[in-house]
Amino acid sequence: MGLFQAISDWQAGRREKHRAVMEAAGKCPDCRGYGFTPAYDAVYSAPYDCPGCNGSGLYSDWLQYGGASYAASVSSAIE
Ligand SMILES: [Zn+2]
Repeated sequence: MGLFQAISDWQAGRREKHRAVMEAAGKCPDCRGYGFTPAYDAVYSAPYDCPGCNGSGLYSDWLQYGGASYAASVSSAIE
């Protein structure tokens, strides 16, 4: 149990909380229902279709397209 583990647990907890809020709203957690990912760096990237929900912005689609990778990331954080 080190600092890195503590940070991983904290991040996983925050992510899970966000996921639950988005689930209740029926929106994709990755893009918050917008259907595209905001450009964090305007120099390098324009907004593009969210890979988590395939651009639909729906939680149900996120679960289908991105839910598996999310579950894997959460379980690896817990291990
Ligand atoms: Zn999305």
